[in-house]
Amino acid sequence: MQKCIPLFLLGVKLMEKKHSIFDEEYVRKQLQALLKIDSPTGYTSKVADYIISELTDMGYTPSLKNKGSVICTIDGDGTPLLLAAHIDTLGGIVSEIKPDGHLRITSIGTLYATSIEGENCRVHTRSGKVYTGFFQMIDPSLHINTNLQNQARDFSNMEIILDEKVYSENDTRALGVRVGDFVGFEQRTVFTESGYIKSRFLDDTVSLSLLLLLAKKIASGDVSTKRKLYLYFSAYEEVGHGAISSIPEDTVEVLDLDIGCIGTETTASETCVSICAKDMFGPYNYEMTSKLIETAEAENIPYSIDIYPFYTSDADSALLSGADIKHALIGPGVCATHGYERTHMDSLLNTFRLLIGYIS
Ligand SMILES: [Zn+2]
Repeated sequence: MQKCIPLFLLGVKLMEKKHSIFDEEYVRKQLQALLKIDSPTGYTSKVADYIISELTDMGYTPSLKNKGSVICTIDGDGTPLLLAAHIDTLGGIVSEIKPDGHLRITSIGTLYATSIEGENCRVHTRSGKVYTGFFQMIDPSLHINTNLQNQARDFSNMEIILDEKVYSENDTRALGVRVGDFVGFEQRTVFTESGYIKSRFLDDTVSLSLLLLLAKKIASGDVSTKRKLYLYFSAYEEVGHGAISSIPEDTVEVLDLDIGCIGTETTASETCVSICAKDMFGPYNYEMTSKLIETAEAENIPYSIDIYPFYTSDADSALLSGADIKHALIGPGVCATHGYERTHMDSLLNTFRLLIGYIS
């Protein structure tokens, strides 16, 4: 395992002014950069390279694992804590080039077709070309297809129409497009004056931005911890086996940062940090979860405790790998998860405050 310890940090005491250490401008800058990178599961090398570059610039020596995840060690004592977030997002993959040159796709992860109807997209060929297009119903003109409004929306009756003059399968093949090419959808990232962040794939880009902020704050000495930390940026979370490999052997705790889910059955909000007590894989570790709640209470951090019935996480994957660890999950509350998502910068602030409070 490579170590990355900015030497000037050794021996520095933990944390001060937890509220003021949040750097909204930096987080916004990272979100803007990260959300521009198409990174559906299986096509994450560019976002991994970006994270490695950012961490390297801070003085760390992150390593890229065979599976595509990135791990960075911040050396220290105490019980090693692994902080996880996932670099992969939802997306699509070409499953058929049709006789008319249009593309059938299947989803990567639980992307639902209705949420991307009419959306712009990019098809990434294996030769490195990128073609734009948009995702539509077959026969999408309402003036022609009078049944359009009544038709179900799914990947069997929707397709990508490329922004190229292609009229046949051969035309599209001549571009270099093939079955198996990855498709990224327009993120449509918007930061409102009132602090809201709207975008596709806030899951889990919000957490990536917070882990990078943490790394930056530790590197600059604004935050210090004696505790040994692993920053783990997983690939393949959206298909269920993200952090199932490469968990360092001495890891005792895994704190997963992923989105909180806002719904009628949860108390999560776009301004709180959400602490997940149980997901479809089962309850999270009692001791860790209790400590997170106690920390939020002690630090006056707005939080919610939630159950996510249709949710799994990298912390679950770590357990599935056979790792003997304690696990917990926190994250910013996000509205319309796996669709066009929204959260508020306050939720990122409060997640970061709880993260800092916990590692201290
Ligand atoms: Zn996620």
